[in-house]
Amino acid sequence: MKEKNTIYKEVFLSGVGIHSGKKVDLFLRPSSRGEIIFCRSDLGNLELRLDPRKVEGDRSTSLVGKGCKIQTLEHLLAVLFMFGIDSLAIELNGPEIPALDGSASPFVQAILSAGVKPLRQEKKTVKILKPFTLEEEGASLSFFPVSGFQISYSIEYDHPLIQRQELSLELDLEGFITQIAPARTFGFLEDVPSLRSRGLAAGGSLDNAVVLDKKGAMSGALRYPDEFVRHKILDLIGDLSLFGFPLLGHFKAHKAGHQLHLKAVHFLLDNPEYWTYEK
Ligand SMILES: [Zn+2]
Repeated sequence: MKEKNTIYKEVFLSGVGIHSGKKVDLFLRPSSRGEIIFCRSDLGNLELRLDPRKVEGDRSTSLVGKGCKIQTLEHLLAVLFMFGIDSLAIELNGPEIPALDGSASPFVQAILSAGVKPLRQEKKTVKILKPFTLEEEGASLSFFPVSGFQISYSIEYDHPLIQRQELSLELDLEGFITQIAPARTFGFLEDVPSLRSRGLAAGGSLDNAVVLDKKGAMSGALRYPDEFVRHKILDLIGDLSLFGFPLLGHFKAHKAGHQLHLKAVHFLLDNPEYWTYEK
């Protein structure tokens, strides 16, 4: 039997939200409730369950409900998913998960320091049974049945450091930690004014994102030449995790983003003939 997991001890992280610009203290705490629950300590300990029907995707993925929002869940969720942690109390005193260095590595370190604790509660795995493709304005996201968890991603940007990048990986925890988690958020300097006018990227800086001007990266050396597509894979893992189960399937995205990622999750929830539980 596969078991649900929590962590052995509390961990604390603190930093600025990339979109809100607000400094947030974040506590990850052991929980035996069998689900991921967020608690806004700045709003009278208001609780929000992680619910795939209550998420919105724009430049990040947010949980919305009870008149409040928790932004930029995806990097933390990707780490929890790859470690198999599905029972956790997440307390924060602001509207957004801190960006930290723009990658998922600080969350990996936090979970490694807390330790993964099995809960003796049964966990099901979901296996994709037949292929499907969702398309949206030149972007696509397909899934296919395979025996492991595989992601392929391709992106195209008219920028000298990106052009076309593609990567396909069969993912396990070790591969995630070394190949995907360190890849940072990226953004284009020329997009900053329009993002800020929409109330986004207020906390974005050279310390928490790869910022690209016309010629190169203002934030210094890349962690991988194809750091950009690796980060897209990180975002997709975080968004797919909202389905709520470990996944056996190949997910193949082209020029996608949070909205299309979430559309795929909702498609799977609405069309159970495309998958089955495997115990
Ligand atoms: Zn991201």
